[in-house]
Amino acid sequence: QPDFDLQALRAQFPILQRQVNGKPLVYLDNAATCQKPLAVIEAMDQYYRQTNANIHRGLHTLSQEATDAHEEARGKLQKFINAASHKEIIFTRGATEAINLVAQSWGRANLKAGDQVLVSMMEHHANIVPWQQLRDQLGIELKVIPILENGSLDLQAFEELMTEKVKLLAITQVSNALGTVNPITQLVRQAHDKGALVLVDGAQAVPHQAVDVQALDADFYVFSGHKMYGPTGIGVLYGKEKLLEAMPPWQGGGDMIDIVTFEKTTYAGLPHKFEAGTPAIAEAIGLGVAADWMLDLELGKLAAWEHALLDYATEQMQTELPGLRILGEAPGKAAVISFVLEGAHAQDLGLLTDQLGIAIRTGHHCAMPVLHHLGVDATARASFAAYNTLEEVDVFVAGLKRVREMLV
Ligand code: PMP
Repeated sequence: QPDFDLQALRAQFPILQRQVNGKPLVYLDNAATCQKPLAVIEAMDQYYRQTNANIHRGLHTLSQEATDAHEEARGKLQKFINAASHKEIIFTRGATEAINLVAQSWGRANLKAGDQVLVSMMEHHANIVPWQQLRDQLGIELKVIPILENGSLDLQAFEELMTEKVKLLAITQVSNALGTVNPITQLVRQAHDKGALVLVDGAQAVPHQAVDVQALDADFYVFSGHKMYGPTGIGVLYGKEKLLEAMPPWQGGGDMIDIVTFEKTTYAGLPHKFEAGTPAIAEAIGLGVAADWMLDLELGKLAAWEHALLDYATEQMQTELPGLRILGEAPGKAAVISFVLEGAHAQDLGLLTDQLGIAIRTGHHCAMPVLHHLGVDATARASFAAYNTLEEVDVFVAGLKRVREMLV
């Protein structure tokens, strides 16, 4: 049993009360996006009911209140990852946009033909494609750290690849497809020893553990709001102030300028230099509330419960479903189970479990290279959040058994 009041936690998530196809919802697609607590829903609702206005520059009361709320949210995110300054928190649409920003701004300004960017085999497409685009634009090389059979990073290969030619290590902290947790502090240190900068994709890490960017010493750290109990359409690029200061703006438009004439434009300071156009104001406010909401939780207890769910589900699946193959069994992995069931196509599994009210993800999980490497092109994936229960695991495993009887 969990070391916190699980029913009280569940009660904060209205969606968990609903039925799907006449059955109580069993939501096991948390790595794709997790559900939102009332605190977040109500903060956004309240913003639109009471405050809505465009921010910055407006002198009227609503505009000032909206500006204050938006900037307060930035402060909450600064606290959430323990950044040294609010200037280091750039709001983006999510992890994807944050990585593209670094590739196109820092990358174009600092890389030249022959330089290397090092990624890992287990990256999400969001941390592969922007570097490929940059490779095609600049003639840089993209190198890939392989993984071991169990889904862990091949640390020996990493040491061999981590040469002085590498200017940036861009790597995920936690894999969305396999659940692997990388030894990120050690990787950052080793990359720095070789003179490279490090971008950490924290999209799957922030929902489960406290992150301290100063202790980690990452140069860039990116994540999405919707995976940490916040809204969609908002995320964060953290960058060390000195680096961000030296980087050119990426997108141009309103809000990111100082003075504009047709001859020349000067830019606003950090963080606004990187936030062109009207931002996602309600979403930033919602994300700020989500960050505070998480800081108030005892994250260690929630993480322990997620691991208990993972262990129980893994054991039940292995005993009840012979022929099931789990992909990714790295020690200490996150609460994600990617699997294939002999004779049952992942897509059929997804459709039929949905009939039972169970939400799991099926497909390539935006990580085609790693699935290909493991010899499959699709898996089914159950991913847990702290509001899941052992009873839900039982419903899930019984559902898989039923579906398999229908398919095989
Ligand atoms: N990186 C990882 C590890 C992810 O799991 C995801 C989302 N699945 C992303 C990046 C991209 O996040 P978003 O689509 O919210 O930009």
